[in-house]
Amino acid sequence: MAYDDPLDDAELRWLRLAEARPDLGAAVDMQRVLVTRGMELMAEVPRITGETSAAPADLLERLARQRAPVLDLAVDIDVDRLLPFLLGFCDDFIAGGAGDPARRVRAVIEKGEIEPESLLRASLARRQEAIRQRANHVGVAPDLVWLVAELAVGPVAHQLQHDALVSVSSAPPEVRSALRAWSRGECPACGSWPALAEVRGGARYARCSFCGADWEPRADACVYCTESGTAFLTAAAGEAQTGRHIEFCRACGGYLKQIGLPAATPFAILPVLDLETSDLDVLAAGRGYARPPMRPVAEPDAPCPEESRQSAP
Ligand SMILES: [Zn+2]
Ligand SMILES: [Zn+2]
Repeated sequence: MAYDDPLDDAELRWLRLAEARPDLGAAVDMQRVLVTRGMELMAEVPRITGETSAAPADLLERLARQRAPVLDLAVDIDVDRLLPFLLGFCDDFIAGGAGDPARRVRAVIEKGEIEPESLLRASLARRQEAIRQRANHVGVAPDLVWLVAELAVGPVAHQLQHDALVSVSSAPPEVRSALRAWSRGECPACGSWPALAEVRGGARYARCSFCGADWEPRADACVYCTESGTAFLTAAAGEAQTGRHIEFCRACGGYLKQIGLPAATPFAILPVLDLETSDLDVLAAGRGYARPPMRPVAEPDAPCPEESRQSAP
């Protein structure tokens, strides 16, 4: 069934999930608050990004080389418009049970001990280590800082990704077709590992939960390490007709959830699909499999520093 407002669809699914899995009640309540704020943020994103594009001049070459990220997501954004959402997500965690650790994160951002603009830019560029170091330096929970920043910039990344790679009105046809040829496991736009795979019309698509990208990695191979031999296998999770599978890779120890769906899940409610299928994560963890950590971000090819170019004779 199609919904005009993804929140209507999400609400039904939360109710169903909380009823079927009372143990997930608190997680559902927290997610409802975060997704609702995320939707409000999405409405504001065009004013936050303005006319900015994340497409670099050599976008087609980057796509052809299959080297992620193909976009430069750490663009200039209107931080003043985004900051209330960043603090709002902190408030959601304070109210939702993360209490003091979340209160401390909010305080260091407000006092500028973690400077909001550099935090948001570092998150857009997926520089997890830099954010972790800064959080440790000022004595707040690194995972929480990473999470609130990700929630605040995810909708921005999604808009930039969509405009640069997908939108018929702003992405050139040759870019859109190069994206269809992207066969690697990592997200072309931002370089993250996929959160899960959707099986639609017999094909398997990877979905990035940070920027919402949707691509078709090489079939029958591990998205993380490209193993395609007997060490890589896809197993049904539960009844075959539910369309739920888990890909296991003994070569790298990674797993990926595979969910059969009639259509692509809208970006805003990808977290709902992830929570609905969290029993598969538990199952995979119980067998000793894990999702690999974030890929270290390849620093973009260093351009000539401004100064040296200017001082060149
Ligand atoms: Zn992505
Ligand atoms: Zn693997």
